Formats: sequence, C-alpha cells, structure tokens
Amino acid sequence: MTKKQISKLKKICVEYGAKLVLKKLDSYGQYDDDKKIVYLHKDLIWNEKIVYSILFHELGHKYCCDNNIYVAYHHSTGGKQAYILTALRAEKFVDNWAAKELKKRGFKFRYPYFYSVSSRIKKLKEHTKQEADRYFN
Ligand SMILES: [Zn+2]
Repeated sequence: MTKKQISKLKKICVEYGAKLVLKKLDSYGQYDDDKKIVYLHKDLIWNEKIVYSILFHELGHKYCCDNNIYVAYHHSTGGKQAYILTALRAEKFVDNWAAKELKKRGFKFRYPYFYSVSSRIKKLKEHTKQEADRYFN
C-alpha cells in the first residue's frame, strides 16, 4: 500500500476514534480495544474492496466494544462457554455493521461477508476455542 492509501485509512480510523497501525499479523486485521488500535497486516496488497472491507470489519469490533454489543465475545465477561457460543453471532453482526457503514459512506462494491463462508466459520470455531483456552484457564 502507498503512503497516500495508508493515510486515507488512518483518517477514517480517526473519525471512529481509533488509531491505525500496520503490523505483521496472523490475520488480515485485528482490533485492540485497550489501545483503541486497528491493526492491518503490513503486507496487505491494495485492493479497495478488500482493504476497506477488512478495515470496516475491525471498526465494527470497535463499535461493539464501545456499545457493549456481544460483550461475552468482546470483553470476555461471560466466561468460556459464552465466549465460544457468541463468537459467530458477534462476527456476523460485525459483518453486517461493516456492510451498512460502507454503503452509508458511498462505497459501491459488495461487502464480502467474511463469516458466511464455511471454511471461515470452521477456522473461527477452532481459533475461538484456542483463544478461550488461553483466556479462561
Ligand atoms: Zn472479526
């Protein structure tokens, strides 16, 4: 991504009260609510649809954290089972939020609902269990 592209993304994050940091990650994006940082993978190749979709997906997690939506998933308050059981619903909520938000801002592409793909859902389930084992044990 070019400096110009990155600065556009940074501006958007600021509008939503977050900071953008590019970093090497296991996934394309990540949101850290303690630091209010949206992380995007530093090697992401510019593609408007993909990059904005990932960015707004992560901002959707911020929206949930700020508004206490799916707290068992976002703030790990309900224990291990609740965390595991709400993961997919929370991710789908975030996908829907991101799609709406992008539309509101005038983006014309179709948002790729990340958690409507079965391979992705399977990965989430595995990942969620690993995370839960780490948090709650
Ligand atoms: Zn997510």
